[in-house]
Amino acid sequence: GKPICECNTCYQGPDCSRFIPDCAADADSGDPLFLEPFWMQHAASSAVLVPGWHRMTYRFADHTFISEQLKNQIFRLHSISRNAITKGKYIVFGGGSTQLLSAAVFALSANRSSPSRVVADPPYYPLYRMQTDYFETARFEFEGNASMLKNNSDSNDNVIEFVTSPNNPDGILKKVILKGSSVKTIHDHAYYWPHYTAIPAPSNEDVMIFTLSKLTGHAGSRFGWAIVKDKEVYENMANYILIEQMGISRDTQLRAFQLLKAVLEGNTTDIFNFAYERMRDRWEKLEQIISLSKRFSIQEIPIQFCNFFEKDRGASPAYAWLKCEREEDTDCNAVLLAANVIGREGSKFMAEDRYVRLSLLRSQDDFDLLLRRLTDLVSEENGAQ
Ligand code: PMP
Repeated sequence: GKPICECNTCYQGPDCSRFIPDCAADADSGDPLFLEPFWMQHAASSAVLVPGWHRMTYRFADHTFISEQLKNQIFRLHSISRNAITKGKYIVFGGGSTQLLSAAVFALSANRSSPSRVVADPPYYPLYRMQTDYFETARFEFEGNASMLKNNSDSNDNVIEFVTSPNNPDGILKKVILKGSSVKTIHDHAYYWPHYTAIPAPSNEDVMIFTLSKLTGHAGSRFGWAIVKDKEVYENMANYILIEQMGISRDTQLRAFQLLKAVLEGNTTDIFNFAYERMRDRWEKLEQIISLSKRFSIQEIPIQFCNFFEKDRGASPAYAWLKCEREEDTDCNAVLLAANVIGREGSKFMAEDRYVRLSLLRSQDDFDLLLRRLTDLVSEENGAQ
């Protein structure tokens, strides 16, 4: 039968079909519910049932905290999507990639004579700063904008640069800003999947961080992994996870295992085709509306060769980075809120408030409503009724 779901906030009634007329379009958080229909199509093969007496111990039978089978599935998925080179590398599991970002900063700042300076290139994901400030220690401090250090290579001693590729909020494939033998990098590859970007080449970086949240959409399971080249960095990161929580929940690992098994059982490229088509379709619709506007613009993402699809492909980003072009619209979020659209303001990403991030990876209802509100806004600008 039809699955029973909670109604989207803009719908009411026994079958969630009654639309609430003034409801705001929520394009704020990055919950990847666009993948929910994929999982409805794979409901049986992805289901997990765990008897009460199962998986009670801290460790697996081989005394590790990491499921070897899950690790193998992850490595297989990287080789299918051609987005990362895993051969000869280590893996660390984390409670979402959130925990691994912190583990990586701790690991890369170990055994240094002076505090490491943590930087990123704006606009950047706010958590990097929040975590570094919150977990204040003698080992590191948040220094801010990576390009401030760019031309002074002496000061690049002891720097840790976050490279988010593709970037949150603007979907651009970012490269390292700072050069120098003592610059350490953390590549946040949360969105480096064919869903959201062309994959120009498999990534082969020192520390690469991925998450189930944006691969399968299961953000609530809190599962991420880091692929690490260097043994000592790996040991430091694994130690962080050990000290902080004695390994990642075995139930979560089981859930991740079952989901990836469902992905790998059928046509292994199905999830990528599904996700890419959905996201590309959304982007094209949004681009079409914004092309009619002078008041608003969105980021340009170049057509690029994709190593996964083996052809040139256009954009399908997780977020739109919308800009209010009118001089007076310095608070773009307020402009959108007045039109019943909830986005996330640019200043959260260390950019001007002339920018707003709009999430494109939520449910179809959320996206359709967003389009509807933006269509109204653009028609109003163009003098239509
Ligand atoms: N990195 C980036 C760039 C993100 O956008 C997010 C989630 N929005 C995360 C990391 C954290 O994701 P999670 O903890 O769910 O893996």
